[in-house]
Formats: sequence, structure tokens, C-alpha cells
Amino acid sequence: MSARTSAEERRTEMLARLDRELQRLVDSGEYARWFTTMSRFHRYSPTNAMWIATQAPDATRVASYRTWQQLGRQVRKGETGIMVSHPKPYWVDPGTGQRVAPPRTEGDRARLQRKVAFRVGHVFDVAQTDGDPLPELGQPAPDDAPHALVDHLEGWCAEQGVTVMTEPLPGGLSGYYRRHDDRIVLAAATSPGDRAATLAHELAHRHDPELIRAHDRGDTSYYAHHRPDCEAVAEGAAHVISGRYGLDLTGHSAGYIAGWVGGDVDRFKQLHQRVGEVTRVLLPPDQLDLALAAAASRAANQATVRRGVRR
Ligand SMILES: [Zn+2]
Repeated sequence: MSARTSAEERRTEMLARLDRELQRLVDSGEYARWFTTMSRFHRYSPTNAMWIATQAPDATRVASYRTWQQLGRQVRKGETGIMVSHPKPYWVDPGTGQRVAPPRTEGDRARLQRKVAFRVGHVFDVAQTDGDPLPELGQPAPDDAPHALVDHLEGWCAEQGVTVMTEPLPGGLSGYYRRHDDRIVLAAATSPGDRAATLAHELAHRHDPELIRAHDRGDTSYYAHHRPDCEAVAEGAAHVISGRYGLDLTGHSAGYIAGWVGGDVDRFKQLHQRVGEVTRVLLPPDQLDLALAAAASRAANQATVRRGVRR
């Protein structure tokens, strides 16, 4: 790619590449594997997570050049950055069509139009860097993963006041969530891994933004009318959450997810955004997430000072 290629051209090319990757996913039905991949980049927007995975399928932890420096690590010479897209909001006066300063009053806020431009930035995988050892990932050993995940999810339920009960359920049902009394009912699980997966799935229903909105407007039949979407989101989110704990559910329910998602690229994109919203709520940051976030904010502050911007 020539250095003269504009950011806009690079972004257009990246979007086309992403569309091809989405089409490949839909054609192959490998959603389960995708959702497990997404667990590695869950702090990024689903679109950026997909950009990263498309360009660097083996990447594990990514951060900007300056963020790695803040963590005492240096990107090696000659390494190619992984493109990501940063939204930059701006405001337009609809009367003049001109770009204007951000609104300061409620009146301005109502009158001005908020738009979003995208800038291309770059991140690097940890494997492209050398330097200080990183904080612990906080990921349990494989044998402990199901127990650690159950502990996290049950702790979350206790904190949020969700009742979790175990009782015999009919017809191979492994669990359900009931919103009106905020209750998760689980069948007696055959293994800690099953219990973890089911609990993650039912909690994902609880935090599904569409189900919450339906509930808020008193729509009690939303789930019944949109069952495939709701199930795809819950199981996709369960994969991301479990993947974060080192528990790969791909063999467990790959067919189940593919069946619910079906073969529509646009629909998959929407479901994917919804999964991102659920997992951002349910997944705790680990030590490295926290260190990366702190380093990123230090790097951003320095960049602001260097540019001499004062507000
Ligand atoms: Zn379900």
C-alpha cells in the first residue's frame, strides 16, 4: 500500500475486505469460532474486533504504539500496524451546512446535527513488541476455567440481585431466564462447563438490549416473535464470555448458533453489535485490560499536551 493512499481509501478498502470476511463467515457458518475469537478483542467495538481478527487472526492483545510504550514495551522496527477505525464526532449547523464547535447549551444541542467521521488508526499485537513483562492475564488454568467462570457469573448474579435456582426441567431444557421476577432457573448440570455455559447464556438474555427495551415498553411477546435473534445473541455472548475464561464452546454449540443466525450478512452484523453490547457489561476487565486502559489514557493525555490543545 503506497504511503500516498489516503486514509479514506484505506478505510474503504478495509470495509470491502471486512464485507468479504463477513460473507465467508456466513457461507461457512463458522460463527461459533468467530465469537470465541472476539473474546480476545472484546474491549473493542465489534466492527474493530472484526477488523483486527481479519488482518491478524493470531493476535491476542492489541494496543497502539504509544500505549505499548507506556507499558514499557516497544514495537519492533518494520512491524506493520493493524488498521482500526476511530469514530470522530463533529457538529454541523443545518442552517448553513457548515461545521461548527460542539454545542454548549441545550438549545444548541437540539439545533445542531451530530455527525461521525472515521479516522484510520493502527494498533499492534503484543507479539510485535519487545520489553517489560506484562501483568498477569488473569486467565485461569484450563481445568479451572469452568469453575472460575461459574464463580464470576454467580458473583455477578448475587451482586445484581438475580435469583439463581436449580431444579429439574422438562424436555432437555438446560435453563431459562424469567424477567418479571429476575430469576435464572438451571437444570442440574452434568459438568461445571455446562453450568458455566448455561448461566452465561441466560445472563446474556437478561442483558440483551433489545429484550430490555421491549420490557421497558411493556412488549411481552418480543421474545416469541424474535426468538432466533435472541437465541443467537445469547449463545454468541456465551461464547465470547466463556472464551475469555479459556473455555472454548465451539464444539458444544456451533451448529446451534449457525442454525439461529442463518445466512444473512446484514442480520449477522446487527446481532454481532448486540453481542458486543451484552459482553461489555458482563465481562470483567482483567489485569492486562486495566493496564492497557490506564496506559492508553496516559498516552492520550501526553498526545493532547504535545499538540498544545487546551480547553
Ligand atoms: Zn436462550
